[in-house]
Amino acid sequence: MDKWWKNIEKYGDYMYDVIIIGAGPAGLTSSIYSRRANKKTLVLEALSYGGQIINSLDIENYPVEFHISGFDFATKLYEQAKSLGAEIYFEKVTEIKNNDDYKEVITSNNTYKTKSVIIATGAENRKLGLENENELVGKGISYCATCDGNFYKDKVVAVQGGGNTAIDDALYLSEIASKVYLIHRRDEFRADEAMVNKLKEKDNVEFFLNSSVTKLNAKDNLESIEVTNKDGETKELEVSALFVAIGRTPANADFENLIKVDEAGYIVASEDCHTNIPGIFVAGDNRTKDVRQLVTATNDGAIAAIEASKYISNLK
Ligand code: NAP
Repeated sequence: MDKWWKNIEKYGDYMYDVIIIGAGPAGLTSSIYSRRANKKTLVLEALSYGGQIINSLDIENYPVEFHISGFDFATKLYEQAKSLGAEIYFEKVTEIKNNDDYKEVITSNNTYKTKSVIIATGAENRKLGLENENELVGKGISYCATCDGNFYKDKVVAVQGGGNTAIDDALYLSEIASKVYLIHRRDEFRADEAMVNKLKEKDNVEFFLNSSVTKLNAKDNLESIEVTNKDGETKELEVSALFVAIGRTPANADFENLIKVDEAGYIVASEDCHTNIPGIFVAGDNRTKDVRQLVTATNDGAIAAIEASKYISNLK
């Protein structure tokens, strides 16, 4: 016998084939594949479309596009998804409920029913966890040098972190700011050696190794930071901005009660994008994987949508 929801629209309710959570490159690509498979598709996004890529000034490693800004890339993808008939609503998803034969996706405003779900929520900037860090965002604390660097022309700024993002940020800022402090908690870097060496050659960059920012001093705006080294010695540095580049954390907190995640919070999935719950898939930076790149996010988006379509076809 047919499932009850096959006729649900007759009774004034609405059942999606696929609900995609997140309108970044993975989620929007999923919606393109899902609509091309003629599936009723809803994308739910908490903030604005594009995800993290919107912060990239210039993308040079996406096939066919020689140079494109993150904003233009995201806007093209968004327009493409809309033109194919994806519904895109800006609502924060707070929970997924797994019923036997359908799922419910709950947002701050609504509850939506769907046959399948693709979680494409990506990852968020990791915070230092310092008192008044959140309040000072936009007033001296930034997580995106390419977005905010220009506000600090000829000023003294600091970057915390030792990965490629931190070194890229410090290099970028060294061309804008009068001085850049690079603060890293160890004396070895995760970043590529060539990039670290390039940074070491800059006259206006000073390294503080085995050190972390431990206090933010501000009136209305950030005025100075306290830096503490591994021996517990502190130093106050006057800066107009601190760029925090200490990695990212997957945005899976709302789903961890239902979906299996690893110790770092990434949804456990292989290249087929299946989670531990049948009918719930994951695409992009928030799943376990080795390479987190724009092209692997869009790749996941395609796979998750194809797998969701297969799942729907197999529902009795
Ligand atoms: P990442 O490689 O995870 O590096 C994070 C850095 O932050 C590490 O140096 C880490 O220190 C430090 N850190 C983490 N938590 C901290 C805390 N609570 N306090 C102080 N320091 C902390 O992150 P990412 O630099 O954002 O890079 C993410 C991925 O994107 C990487 O695979 C990277 O290669 C890639 N990426 C590539 C490029 C490029 O190719 N040009 C540019 C940007 C990013 P420890 O080293 O001590 O753990």
